[in-house]
Amino acid sequence: MSVENIRIVLVNTTHPGNIGSAARAMKTMGLSSLYLVSPMDFPSCEARALSSGATDLLENAVVTETLAEAIADCDLVVGASARVRGISLELTDPRETATDVVAEAAAGGKIALVFGREDRGLTNEELRMCHRQVHIPSVAEFSSLNLAASVQVLCYELRMAHLSAEGTDKVPGVREHRPASSEEMEGFYGHLRETLEEVEFFKSCNPEKIMTKLRRLYSRSRPDRIEYNILRGILSETQVAVRKKRQ
Ligand code: SAH
Repeated sequence: MSVENIRIVLVNTTHPGNIGSAARAMKTMGLSSLYLVSPMDFPSCEARALSSGATDLLENAVVTETLAEAIADCDLVVGASARVRGISLELTDPRETATDVVAEAAAGGKIALVFGREDRGLTNEELRMCHRQVHIPSVAEFSSLNLAASVQVLCYELRMAHLSAEGTDKVPGVREHRPASSEEMEGFYGHLRETLEEVEFFKSCNPEKIMTKLRRLYSRSRPDRIEYNILRGILSETQVAVRKKRQ
């Protein structure tokens, strides 16, 4: 991600713990640029403790007196607000915002995501300094997230947008072996049916119906070669055991 182009700006934060938690939220999602506008208590032990190892972000945090200074060199400024206010800013959700931010950052733009104070958010004047507003679609009756939680939501969406843009797998690849081929799976289904008949599983049930359901189950999990071999092995051993018992 062109991370260095995306900054998180916390305005006038009261609780240092929230600064630490926000730093942790950022670092887990690959972001590192933190700006603090007139924090009430910083640097602080509580921020350090709650950053849980994201202390590098705290040490490198840029502290400014005003929001204007923190966003001076930015091309796009997005204000995060719990309330949807009547000021005529374009209103977006975190997913849309993240897609645009990642695209602009990749093109070399500098972007700030601005978060307000715990008790009363961003002032209208501060919001007016933003190009657009992002609102996490919480329920109307209880719309305000914890500051660091809202930073986490935005950073997560940035990460997802970044991974999609890069075409990277969202979850590290866990498939080490090629999936079993259709031919192999047909062999497995034949073997499964034969074994179920041998153990007299079907009784009065319709074998076709049961097999259809089992095929659906195994198709969903798409076994790989190794898993396929295990399944075939289980069936073979079951047959051996049943045949021994019947001798
Ligand atoms: N009572 C304040 C809420 C402050 S919460 C208010 O009404 O604005 C602290 C900050 O977290 C907010 O300023 C905002 O930046 C962010 N935040 C909390 N809930 C959010 C939401 N639903 N959508 C976007 N940002 C949110």
